[in-house]
Amino acid sequence: MSANELNYYYLDTMGIQRWVTAKPKADPATQAAWLLLEKTVASCTACDLHQGRTQTVFGVGNKQADLIIVGEAPGYYEDQQGEPFVGRGGQLLDRMLKSIGLDRQQVYIANVLKCRPPKNRDPLPREVEKCTQHLDQQLALLQPKLILAVGRYAAHYLLQCNTPLSRLRGRLHHYGQQQIPLIVSYHPAYLLRNPIDKRKAYSDLLHVSATLQ
Ligand code: SF4
Repeated sequence: MSANELNYYYLDTMGIQRWVTAKPKADPATQAAWLLLEKTVASCTACDLHQGRTQTVFGVGNKQADLIIVGEAPGYYEDQQGEPFVGRGGQLLDRMLKSIGLDRQQVYIANVLKCRPPKNRDPLPREVEKCTQHLDQQLALLQPKLILAVGRYAAHYLLQCNTPLSRLRGRLHHYGQQQIPLIVSYHPAYLLRNPIDKRKAYSDLLHVSATLQ
């Protein structure tokens, strides 16, 4: 157990909330830009996925967060509830975050696509092309210290590559012109199907924790 993990263990045991660096509150113009973006996404019809959605799934969490987690696309429960990463995958993500001393209220969570693909099929290139303008704007407004891309769709879009996920893990990448640090890991839904890789995912999370220090 590392020194940080030991500290977290003692803090949790004593019921003391962990200290997290907070950014200054967003200025009114940034808050207005978030609201406008949410409205834009809620009424978006830029690709065919709008026809089958119950609602858009914009993103959720702390808009002053240092860490954003980017996944693939809403599934059934996300489409029903309007929130990313709910259901069993979401519960696993919560446990993964907890393992490095974070919870949902301290991070921001979003997907590459804001509408559910039918029967949870993989996103199509034309859908990714249309929808990622929204994610790009979320990242521009959030200005996180670190991006955690979970799954190949998030990693491939954000890094503009087609490299297998296994070769993207384990090192620090950078996103966009601002060169925001980015770490790649497995999607929680994949880990539910392949629990043997949870150990590797934990190693990625330790990398996240160390990068945020
Ligand atoms: Fe618009 Fe994205 Fe939904 Fe397509 S998936 S309709 S681009 S919000």
